[in-house]
Amino acid sequence: MLPEELAALLSELGQPRYRAKQLFSWLSRDAGSFDEMTDLSKELRAALRETCSVYTPKVLRKQISSRDGTIKYLWELEDGNAVETVVMRYRHGNTVCISTQVGCRMGCAFCASTLGGLVRVLRPSEMLSEVLSSERDSGLPISNIVLMGIGEPLDNFDNVIRFLQLINHPQGRNIGMRHISLSTCGLVDGIDRLAELDLQLTLSVSLHAPDDETRSRIMPVNRSCGVGELMDACRRYFEKTQRRISFEYIMIDGVNDSDKQASLLAALVRPIGGHVNLIPLNHVEERALKPSSPERIAAFQKQLEGKGVNVTVRRSLGGDVDASCGQLRRKAERMNS
Ligand code: SAH
Repeated sequence: MLPEELAALLSELGQPRYRAKQLFSWLSRDAGSFDEMTDLSKELRAALRETCSVYTPKVLRKQISSRDGTIKYLWELEDGNAVETVVMRYRHGNTVCISTQVGCRMGCAFCASTLGGLVRVLRPSEMLSEVLSSERDSGLPISNIVLMGIGEPLDNFDNVIRFLQLINHPQGRNIGMRHISLSTCGLVDGIDRLAELDLQLTLSVSLHAPDDETRSRIMPVNRSCGVGELMDACRRYFEKTQRRISFEYIMIDGVNDSDKQASLLAALVRPIGGHVNLIPLNHVEERALKPSSPERIAAFQKQLEGKGVNVTVRRSLGGDVDASCGQLRRKAERMNS
């Protein structure tokens, strides 16, 4: 709940509305129970206990990478479902990568998160808890958030927007929109709705192929809405928000890493000043796809740069704790079944 909603609730409970600010601040600090909120009166705490609940997820598993200190949490939610959150330590600050759904229904051919389909969407409070509980448990202050864990954020649009309002609120955790990235497989309606809100967050689009034939093969979402329509939506987004879009591009051996595809990709992203982030494919046990060789990735990068495109190659963190893209949650599920 946002402070103004808490104020309305408090007045319904016959309690002073001005306590909403304090209550919101406690909830933004991952308070596990109303009893922890010691600066609220005993009567107020009792009234809240009777009518409301606060819930913080339990740590089911926590793994720390011995290579780079990346921490992967497996959280148990109230209904027994589990989602993962990853905390990465970068020089520019600690970044948390959160899940937005339990499972995913997008069906991308390279991704482990979608193997069991979509179980349910996450509530705003559950996404908030991923950030706050990771911060509290790890003791690492979080400065950046990426919505790049399990799930498709724009397939859970309203809850994701509410989560952003909660985490960004000046009376709460107050993480600036410019420190938040949202990654989508390319839901055009969602991109248009997001553009309307004109938030200052960074939009990342998982493009992964510049031609419909290849993209439809590895990303079913492309079959109903092709590359042309997606790029049109990206242009509208850029024009409305003036925020440069980041295009994610997984490098898959012999699938999307040819010279011709590099040229096509450059022609798509250059007109809107897009940034390309090349990601070496992380091998997923259930998938036959292989990563491109480092030499191929370097050549692809060079070709894009030659055409005036801004490119980076993503550094992989947390490989030894299965925290890399697309690998979340599956192992635990397999171990439990
Ligand atoms: N559904 C959103 C966000 C979650 S996935 C999206 O599609 O963008 C976050 C990123 O990890 C996406 O770019 C996704 O394509 C990528 N990814 C999925 N599986 C991967 C794998 N096996 N190796 C590398 N990146 C992968």
